[in-house]
Amino acid sequence: MSIQLFKAKYEVEECLAEIRECLEVGWTGLGFKTVKFEEAWKAYTGLPYAHYLNSSTEGLYMAVDILKNEYRWNDDDEIITTPITFVSTNHAILKSHLKPVFADVDDTMCMTPESVKAHITDRTRAVMYVGIGGNMGHYYEIVKICEENNLKLILDAAHMSGTRYNGEIPGHEAEVIIYSYQAVKNLPTADSGMICFKSGKLDEIVRKKAWLGINKDTYARSADSGNYKWKYDCEYVGEKAHGNSVMASIALVQLKYLDRDNAYRRQLAKWYTDKLSKYPDKIKLVRIEEGCESSHHLFQIMIENRDELLTTLNAAGISPGVHYISNINYRMYDYARGTCPYADYVSDHVLSLPMHMYLTFDDVNRICDVIIKFVNRK
Ligand SMILES: *Cc1c(COP(=O)(O)O)cnc(C)c1O
Repeated sequence: MSIQLFKAKYEVEECLAEIRECLEVGWTGLGFKTVKFEEAWKAYTGLPYAHYLNSSTEGLYMAVDILKNEYRWNDDDEIITTPITFVSTNHAILKSHLKPVFADVDDTMCMTPESVKAHITDRTRAVMYVGIGGNMGHYYEIVKICEENNLKLILDAAHMSGTRYNGEIPGHEAEVIIYSYQAVKNLPTADSGMICFKSGKLDEIVRKKAWLGINKDTYARSADSGNYKWKYDCEYVGEKAHGNSVMASIALVQLKYLDRDNAYRRQLAKWYTDKLSKYPDKIKLVRIEEGCESSHHLFQIMIENRDELLTTLNAAGISPGVHYISNINYRMYDYARGTCPYADYVSDHVLSLPMHMYLTFDDVNRICDVIIKFVNRK
């Protein structure tokens, strides 16, 4: 039996019942279930605002775009960011005509406070932080640096659905948090995401910008609103980025099981750790900071001859992954070549082991045995 890297587990009957309701009501669009899911997400996270989107990629872009306009940043102003992430993170900065400035990471896979500090200039406006694999790394130190230097904090929490710190959902500190509910994330839908601004004013703006800039309130507020339902104003050249009720139906169901699923992910991580931590010279595990209860979207290791191990695992019917190749390797970011040596090391040595709800203790053992045999080969 082959073992996949990711395999989403859906509560099929419950999801179908929720979707059926949309089909019977005749409404699959914005509103209805999307509003219900926004309320459910706010209740789960304790965050004050949440707007449901068709992807976190769109959310990241709009987060940067809205902050840029709100705070009157100029083109080519800088955002400090990580090279070890999915390209959505950094494309969001470039697309807004700002400059990604890369800080280095360490064995938490996240940016280090020292490197972030070292990259602050008089053009720095914000820090884009990514909690890789659901880990928080040095998040709270980064929060402090942002406060001390008057920088806005953007949190790409694509991997962090359900991550807790000392029992609390983190993120209240950030100006904006963006979650992903893409097909393989911890709360899988097919494609969708959430943008959570700290400010109600910016939440209002994103609700318009995610729907082509349309402001349906202008006339709805007038006395004879019934007559003017068809009439709306358009304030921005916005995106078509709002979520829909079919995706929100799946999200509403899956959210009920997120903590259960994440608890099992942590169990899998413990099984991996118990076996692999016996070879500290050969297998480097990702460091998880004290107090962080990771969502364990990923289980990553770092290893010599990574590409050879990839081939060996594939031959054994096991599909590993790589999260991520340093973004500095991509042509639009190669101006930063050589500036992040640890990220280069990660890029060449990191490997993601299978992590999903269908894995068993025996699967984890089988995967570990292949890796241990590989590192002990003559
Ligand atoms: C998946 C992912 C995204 C993009 O999420 P989508 O919902 O697929 O647009 C952004 N950042 C990181 C770190 C991701 O892993």
